[in-house]
Amino acid sequence: MAKFVGAHTSANGGVFNAITNAQEIGAKAFALFTKNQKRWDAKPFDAKTLDRWFATLEASGIEPKHILPHDSYLINLGHPEDEKLQKSRHAFIDELQRCEVLGLDKLNFHPGSHLVKLSAKEKKDPKRISEMENGCLDVIAESINIALDQTSGVKAVIENTAGQGTNLGYKFEHLAYIIDKVEDKSRVGVCIDTCHLFTAGYDIRTREAYDATWEAFGKIVGFEYLSGMHINDSKPPLGSRVDRHHSLGLGAIGLDAFRFIMNDPRMDDIPLVLETIDASIWADEIALLYSFENIF
Ligand SMILES: [Zn+2]
Ligand SMILES: [Zn+2]
Repeated sequence: MAKFVGAHTSANGGVFNAITNAQEIGAKAFALFTKNQKRWDAKPFDAKTLDRWFATLEASGIEPKHILPHDSYLINLGHPEDEKLQKSRHAFIDELQRCEVLGLDKLNFHPGSHLVKLSAKEKKDPKRISEMENGCLDVIAESINIALDQTSGVKAVIENTAGQGTNLGYKFEHLAYIIDKVEDKSRVGVCIDTCHLFTAGYDIRTREAYDATWEAFGKIVGFEYLSGMHINDSKPPLGSRVDRHHSLGLGAIGLDAFRFIMNDPRMDDIPLVLETIDASIWADEIALLYSFENIF
C-alpha cells in the first residue's frame, strides 16, 4: 500500500472523534482541527482526552505521519499590523504544541495575506506587486522561524493557495521563497491543494499539463518538501484565483488528474486528504481514488 487517502474529518466532541470518523469512511489518512478553528484560544487537552486519542489511534492502525492537522483560519503569519501579527504567532505556536502533545509531526497552514488594497494601477505593476509580496513573505518566514524555535518535532507545512484576495502562496516561487528563509529546513514542508493549484493557474488535466506542472514544482520547490496533499476538484476555472472546492469528477479539473496522482510514486506515503464539499460521499470518493491505483 503506497497511497494514504482520507478526508478532513470532524473532531466535534473531542479530537479522538476525527479518528473514528476517518475509519468509518475507509480512510487511511486524515486531517483535523485540533481546536475550534474559528476561535483564538483553546484549553489544553486533558489527560482523559489524550488517553482516548492515543488508544483510538493505536486501534485504528493509522500512523501519525499520515495525519495532517490544519491550523485555525484566523491566523495570518504575514499580518501587516504588529498586534495582530503577534496574536497570530502566539496562536500558531500553540497549534504546533497541540500537535506535539498529540504525537503528530506536521501542521498544515496557509502562508498569510498582506491585506493591502492595491490601486487599479498598482495591480498592473508587477514590480510593485512583488515588492508587496516579498515583504509579506519575509514576515511569514520570520514567523515560522520564531515558532520552530519554540517547539520541537513538528514540521510547519505550508499550503499553496488559490491566490484569492491578497493571499500569498499561489505561486511555487512563493513557497520556495519562504522555505529559503526558514533556518531549519528539516522542519518545513509543503501541502499542495489540487483545487488551489488549478485555480492559481497550474493545469493538471492532461498528462502533458500534469507533467509540466510537477516538473516546475520539482525545480522551484523540490519534492523533498512535499509533505501532504489536499485532493479537491474545483468549481472555478483554471487561473481564476478563486478558492471553491468541488467533489471529484464534478468540477473543472476532472478525474484524470486524480488518476495521475494515484499512480505517481512522488505522492507515496504522504497524507492525501479530501476537502471536497459533500462529506456524505467521502467514502465513495476514497474508494474511487483507491480504484485508480495501478491502472497505468
Ligand atoms: Zn486545502
Ligand atoms: Zn481551499
